[in-house]
Amino acid sequence: MVVCAWALPVAAAPGLTHVVLDPGHGGPHDGAPARFAPGRWEKEYALDIAEQVAARLRAQGVEVSLTRTDNDTDVGLRERVNIANRRRADLFVSIHLNSTERPGPVGHESFFLALKATDDAAERLAAFENAEGGVVDAHAAGEVTGDTASAILRDLTWTRAHHDSQRLAAAIQARVTPLSPFPNRGVKQADFAVLKGAAMPAVVFEGGFLNHRKEGRWLTTPEARTLLAQGVAEGILDFGREVLARRAARPQPTLAPRGAPP
Ligand SMILES: [Zn+2]
Repeated sequence: MVVCAWALPVAAAPGLTHVVLDPGHGGPHDGAPARFAPGRWEKEYALDIAEQVAARLRAQGVEVSLTRTDNDTDVGLRERVNIANRRRADLFVSIHLNSTERPGPVGHESFFLALKATDDAAERLAAFENAEGGVVDAHAAGEVTGDTASAILRDLTWTRAHHDSQRLAAAIQARVTPLSPFPNRGVKQADFAVLKGAAMPAVVFEGGFLNHRKEGRWLTTPEARTLLAQGVAEGILDFGREVLARRAARPQPTLAPRGAPP
């Protein structure tokens, strides 16, 4: 039988079937302002990066869903993770760019969920993202109480997803760092509403500071966003291959056949 190579479907990336990407903010929630491109906002750049990550993953045979596909749509924080849960995604990555009250901090960082933040900066950032840039998302805040979060933490499924989240964050940082001219701020933890309740590895990626005098300018260039997207996509593919595919390939415990010697 002759099989034409061009007729074969693209081989799926190991370990990955369906990825949900979440471009931060949207609709009335602009996120952080682009200091060096007046009138441009984090929500636009986050969507641009997410679309490019999606294209790269789809080229590897991975099905990808975005929580929003335009800049006018307002999606609640809780709904974003619910989309990932409903689609039984292998992983969830929320994509953002950062800003601070006073310019100074620089670099890219990835977060996984913890009730206690790594440091004050991480806590302030999570508070900003949870408030959708100044507008409190009462819907999200109302649905996830401290009690709910504690119950989530006790859940065993969530425990593995939580452990994997740390590895996913590290995989993304490892791939973005050689591509960004700015520092690796590392893997951190914070109380991000958008990560609560995820039944799969879930991280917030913050690609850089829009108000830093050098990085802020860099982020306004299409090349910067292409490089960040490349790093995030490669990190996701690494995580699929090195964590999810390896786990799936491990022999599952089987029962001894009847009558077999002990
Ligand atoms: Zn954001």
